[in-house]
Order: sequence, then C-alpha cells, then structure tokens
Amino acid sequence: MTTRVVAVLLCVSVMSGFSRTASAQDSELDARIVKLVGSVSEEHLGVILKKLESFETRSTLSSTTSTTRGIGAARQWILDEMKSYSPKLQVSFDTYQVVPQGRITRDVELRNVMAILPGRSPRRIYVSGHYDTVARPGGQGQANAAAPTDPDARTVPPADPNAPLDNLAPGVNDDGSGTALTIELARVFSQSGIDFDATLVFMCHVGEEQGLVGARLHAQRAVAQKIPIEAVFNNDIVGNDRGGNGIIDGATIRVYSEGPEDSPSRELARFVQRWGGRYVPSHKVRPMGRPDRFGRGGDHSAYNALGFTAVGFRESRENFTRQHDVRDTYEGLSPAYLAQNARVNAASAATLALAPPPPSVLNERNQPMINRAPSGYDANLKWNAVPGAAAYRIFWREAWGQDWQQELRVGNVTGVILPNMQIDDYVFGVAAIDAAGHESFVTAYVTPPRVSTDIKTKPGT
Ligand SMILES: [Zn+2]
Repeated sequence: MTTRVVAVLLCVSVMSGFSRTASAQDSELDARIVKLVGSVSEEHLGVILKKLESFETRSTLSSTTSTTRGIGAARQWILDEMKSYSPKLQVSFDTYQVVPQGRITRDVELRNVMAILPGRSPRRIYVSGHYDTVARPGGQGQANAAAPTDPDARTVPPADPNAPLDNLAPGVNDDGSGTALTIELARVFSQSGIDFDATLVFMCHVGEEQGLVGARLHAQRAVAQKIPIEAVFNNDIVGNDRGGNGIIDGATIRVYSEGPEDSPSRELARFVQRWGGRYVPSHKVRPMGRPDRFGRGGDHSAYNALGFTAVGFRESRENFTRQHDVRDTYEGLSPAYLAQNARVNAASAATLALAPPPPSVLNERNQPMINRAPSGYDANLKWNAVPGAAAYRIFWREAWGQDWQQELRVGNVTGVILPNMQIDDYVFGVAAIDAAGHESFVTAYVTPPRVSTDIKTKPGT
C-alpha cells in the first residue's frame, strides 16, 4: 500500500468514528471450503461422463421410452444419481409441456433435473449445465466456417415431425462436462456437512440446443413465483483442454458475463476470479467482458434476459470439430481439467452461499447513495444494512480499468467517508462480510442512465 492510502485509512478512522479492525482473519481461507474443494473427484467426474456418453443421444427430441438410450433414460439416471447422494438433497424434475416453436418441431415434455440443498435462507445460488445434446452433419467446425446465423431461426421441419430425433449425439463435452460438474458438486455440497446460508440449486437444464429453452422456462417460472435467484453459474463446454488448432491450455478457464461494465453479472465474474483464485490458485480465472463467444450462446443468458445475475464458464481452448458432432466423445475430455473447473465453481459457490447477500446501494428513489459531502470533495458512500453482515468491504478503482485496485474493510456500519477522494475519478463498490469473513459479491455505485427528453421549440420554427 502507498502512504497515501494509509493516510486515507487514518482519516477514515478518525472522521467516521469507527475502528478499522484487523483483516487478517477474513483473508484466511475457510478450512471447510478447502475440504469441500478438495473432495471434488476427477475419477468420479470420469465415471459420470462415461455414463452420460452411454445414452448415445440426449437430444431434447429423442426417445423417452428406452431405459438405456435417449433423453428419457438419461434424465431418469441423473435424477436417481443425485437422489443417492444425500437425504438433504431435494431432487425433482422441473417439467414443462412445450408446443412447436423455433427448433422445437413437435409437442414435447421438457424436464430440467433439479437438486435443491436447502439453506437457512430462501435466496438461491445455482450451479448448472445442460444435459441435452445435438449432432448435425459437419458439426460446429463447419458452422464456424460460415458467417454466424440467428441461433433461434426456425429450422426446416423433418419429414415426420413426431418421430423421435434419435441420431447419435454423445455430447460428452457439450454439455456432458457441465452436467457432470453440476452432478459432482451436488454430491460434494450435500455431503459436506456445511450449513449454508443460501439455498444451493444444482440444475441440469434441457432444451439448450433448441434455444436455451429449459433455462428460459425455469427463469420465467422463477419470475412468476418470485424465487429469489441471487446468482447462476452456468457451465457449458468446460472439459476439454486441447484446442482444435493444437494449442493446449489446461490451466485457465474463461468466465463470460453480460454488461454493462459494473452490472451484477460482471461483479459475479470478478467474485469468481477473486475467490476461485484464492481457493484454487493453480487455476487461472479469465473474466471476459462480453455475454458469450461470438455467435454462441448459453443458459446464463436466459437468466440475464429476465434480470438475474448469471455468468457462463467456458473452456479456454475449444475443439470445434468435436462440438455438435458425433465426435464429441469421452476421448476428447480431460477429467483433470474438468475437475479444476469444478473446484473453481465449488469455491465460488460455497463462499457466496456462506456470505450474506450483496448490499443494495440504492435509495428509495433508486438512486445510488454516493455524494461529495461533507466537504464537497469527499467520497461519501452509503448502503443499506444487510441481514447477517458483521462488516463490509469497500472496493475502488480508477474509472478506467477492469479490476478493483484498492479495498478497505469497515465495521458493521452503513456508510463511509473517504476524504478528498473525487467520486468522479473512481468506481466504488461495497460487499457484505459475515463474522467469519465470507464475502458477497460487490455492488457497484453506477450512474443511472439519463432519460432523453425532447427540447420544446416554438411551433412553426
Ligand atoms: Zn452447450
């Protein structure tokens, strides 16, 4: 720290009348989370991936009558598997009757598979993937050679629209990897013995390849039923470390998030970088300041579209020739790499689920509570008290840049004054912390968008 920052800290203590507690305690890792992260099993992930591959296709429009092949068999196995982990897990189908539209060519019953680990509070944190698959002639490799097309475009209906779409579509990476990660975290969280504050939901979506259909339906239901979803971690194509161009990277993971710059989803991505990085320092989190890859989509966007906070994890180096193709087999997976991505998810979700919810920094008129009082040249930040918070942490960075540059732990207060800090020159944010140091993601002070109004002029001029 520079001397200037220390001077600021001293001023804070004196002027605001609260003590600056030592932060050694909350910078340490929680031994229970360390243990949980350590219990993610590469071997078990491999077993799940092979099982998912054995269904040969998990297309949303495939057969539901076989007990060994197709989506009916796959969803039943996922349900039974998660049920076997712990009586604490509430496992169910999240079912919808869907009529033909877009890439859904016939009436079909869609079933997301959902495992809920109830916490002390109803606020929810989701870990998710999609278990449905697709394989088309040429796969994603051929699609990438052409210009991007509308992903929701209606496709040519098959000769018999009611016939099951049963062509081989193993989908071990897309998205067996995200599904296996989700199932494995259902196991380690439900068997951890940790009493989480937030309710954790392990969600295997369906219909993703038809336009995020299962995720959109669940997000719609969450809005209608006022289900408080605080964060969604979506994992889609997270198990391969060998790029189709020969470049190998098994030590990093990309995290995509919807903007604008200090949106809650961007703050969630920063949170994953901060806490995933602390618990899994051998794996680098690479936040990406865009919703997803060019021309590609994922289930987190379905939640974003309805106002929820959500991010998408993607492997760093993709092999497009295996995606949406019969070649998306177990052979193309690295269970060791998938396990690292699962550990980053586990550390982030566990920290978030033990922390208080993020503070709101808006007043009753929906304006951010930031001003220059009392001198006219200070940073005066206020926020609303969060239930369960024992302290708060302020973050700031220059108003040009991506990563938080400074942080300051303050006590159980709802405001801080940083003398001579020009609010116009920095982005500020605040996170809530519990007594043990578990931290929420940051809520940033964002300038509300200006509403444009027409200037009135004299008629006829
Ligand atoms: Zn996918």
